[in-house]
Amino acid sequence: MDDLRDLYQNVILDHNKSPRNFGKLEGASATADGHNPLCGDKLTVYLLLDDDDRVSDIRFDGMGCAISTASASLMTEFVKGKTKEEIEEIFQRFHELVAGDSDDVEAAPELGKLAVFGGVRGYPARVKCATLSWHTLQAALHGDEDAATTE
Ligand code: ZN
Repeated sequence: MDDLRDLYQNVILDHNKSPRNFGKLEGASATADGHNPLCGDKLTVYLLLDDDDRVSDIRFDGMGCAISTASASLMTEFVKGKTKEEIEEIFQRFHELVAGDSDDVEAAPELGKLAVFGGVRGYPARVKCATLSWHTLQAALHGDEDAATTE
């Protein structure tokens, strides 16, 4: 179990240090801002959707704690090439993993590396850091003008 925890820690540290898909996306078809006032995390998600509602490109920028940055980085890697529908489904599973009520904390296999955020379960303040980028992505997908917030 300790090895697994180290592995999870390393994934988060790595993505925080070198976030993937970081920066503005020129020609984005949708953007949204997200804010987690509890921690001070702020980020913007830039999306490019193709004609089939598939994410053909995604980037993010902003400032946040290690968990919010790593989560945004992994999220962008994960959703690239996926459809809106597939993203809804995976977000639900991700949310169940980090914030669900059930005692079954086993991560769904399709979550892949996102399973590392199972560690924030039971820490409501950290859950908001881990889900901020996903809420912001949802806002961008749904064309919400208002900033997404974890409150
Ligand atoms: Zn945070």
